[in-house]
Amino acid sequence: MKRRGAGTIGTEDVGNRVKLQAWVQRRRDHGGLVFLDLRDRSGIVQVVLRPEERPDAAQALAAVRSEWVVEVEGEVVRRGPEHVNRDLPTGEIEVVADRAAALSRSEPPPFPLDGKTDAAEETRLHYRYLDLRRTELQKNFLLRDRVALAVRNFFHERAFVDVETPVLTKSTPEGARDYLVPSRVHRGSFYALPQSPQLFKQILMVAGFERYIQIARCFRDEDLRADRQPEFTQIDVEMSFPTEEDVFELIESLFARVFPLAGISPPAAFPRMTYAEAMARYGSDKPDLRFGLPIVDLTERLGDSGFRGFKVTVEAGGVVRGFAVPGAAAASRKQVDGWTEIARRYGAAGVLTLRRKDGKVVFQVNALTEAELQGAAEALGLEEGDLALIVAAPAAIAAAALGALRIELARTYKLIPEGEHAFLWVTEFPLLEWDGEAGRWFAMHHPFTSPDPRDLDRLESDPGAVRARAYDVVMDGLELGGGSIRIHDPALQGRMFEILGIAPEEAQARFGFFLEALRYGAPPHGGIALGLDRIVMLMAGASSLRDVIAFPKTAAAVDLMSGAPSPVDAKQLRELHLRMQR
Ligand code: ASP
Repeated sequence: MKRRGAGTIGTEDVGNRVKLQAWVQRRRDHGGLVFLDLRDRSGIVQVVLRPEERPDAAQALAAVRSEWVVEVEGEVVRRGPEHVNRDLPTGEIEVVADRAAALSRSEPPPFPLDGKTDAAEETRLHYRYLDLRRTELQKNFLLRDRVALAVRNFFHERAFVDVETPVLTKSTPEGARDYLVPSRVHRGSFYALPQSPQLFKQILMVAGFERYIQIARCFRDEDLRADRQPEFTQIDVEMSFPTEEDVFELIESLFARVFPLAGISPPAAFPRMTYAEAMARYGSDKPDLRFGLPIVDLTERLGDSGFRGFKVTVEAGGVVRGFAVPGAAAASRKQVDGWTEIARRYGAAGVLTLRRKDGKVVFQVNALTEAELQGAAEALGLEEGDLALIVAAPAAIAAAALGALRIELARTYKLIPEGEHAFLWVTEFPLLEWDGEAGRWFAMHHPFTSPDPRDLDRLESDPGAVRARAYDVVMDGLELGGGSIRIHDPALQGRMFEILGIAPEEAQARFGFFLEALRYGAPPHGGIALGLDRIVMLMAGASSLRDVIAFPKTAAAVDLMSGAPSPVDAKQLRELHLRMQR
């Protein structure tokens, strides 16, 4: 008899015999009867052992406990109306075992595997194979499989070619720290694990592939934040002869195919916003547009007002900005202190409040004229019962502080609608970012991103004002991916390195192979990379990347199951020409 999936058995099977091979999720003894919940990938079904009628089967499974693997054959019967379990898709039936065997024993699992778990994350990661057995996690991986398949089908239909690029490679330019692999054969030389296939996918364009896709593993040795993993998966894409429009259309169509797998329907075309507008209006380059709370610039209006704090800031080149929160006028002192704390974390001196209550506009400090109060309230759209938070600081700090407060207040006042999503393109990123500490320019995306041709003549004279042909796709305030139209002219690439302070010899040593390729008929090209882990996490409604990566690492970059990283023996080190420093 063929094996049936536990979750696939239903009322249409009543009267038939079925065979199950599955895990025991739960065992309950009811006087003479024993009930087993059997679980496999497809779901759960209840099995009954009736020692009086089917002594052999009952005997065979007498000792089984949670997580043993068993085989059961028996008849599917309808449950009595009082025993129907509405919470279980198979809840109207049960299987009466008449032949059974225990196939594998299990030690008592260190945490229960039914339903949500409150086991410590370390325990779950140590026994990852048990954690993964839980229905809650299994469904994430079944979704991930469907997403990956849809992605591959989508790109294949559009004439993209799946090409693998090396994992043992040369240091790449994403700007994070590399994982290095020492070469045994070439003493003192190292491979780097790719931070992304960036240079290879560009070279594949030079190689005439025209359209490239890879679901590629990337490695970045960064100090991990809660939502990062040292190795992660990108949907990596590159095209020859594209405009930004081509990339946008492609990714919008991809999302239209993929997100419905989780019941999410993105709009046919996503709204677009320049980086400058995103920073000014939402204080972030990945604004969450599921809610309003737009930031309003009050510099002109209040910079020269009676409040000295504003004046001093504005005279030093700073800005005064704020946003109104509907219905928040009753916020307590303690709440405002909390928001001040957040603003300080981003370098602002604090926040100031403006309220409209009982028909009057009241500023926290009694220093503004009635006309200034009314003007500010009007600019902010402050209505009766509303509160506005105002920050005076250098523009970048004001943006960061207000951007963080915007999200905090949206959460506090429950302004984020459940089940709604907001997709968006952020465009016209700056090409370069000044690093005060290092005293030099860095590429905001990566050094192979094309400057906006409209700004080319300012590349040397005013590098900070040059826009890039770079874009990010954002969902609900999270960056799902980013890319750019690339430089395909070796001379321009050379200018770029110069601005980045990369000397020709250094450029040659690091990217010589790539610069050489550019000299042999490189087509105009561009692309994007999307974070597959994050996309699946959002689609699954999971709260952590660890719930969509089968064998993830902790925040300390440790695999608690295998114990990696771990010391190696002296012989291995010798072969690699390495010696441990004391
Ligand atoms: N390689 C870039 C990244 O990983 C994406 C791209 O420009 O296509 O962020």
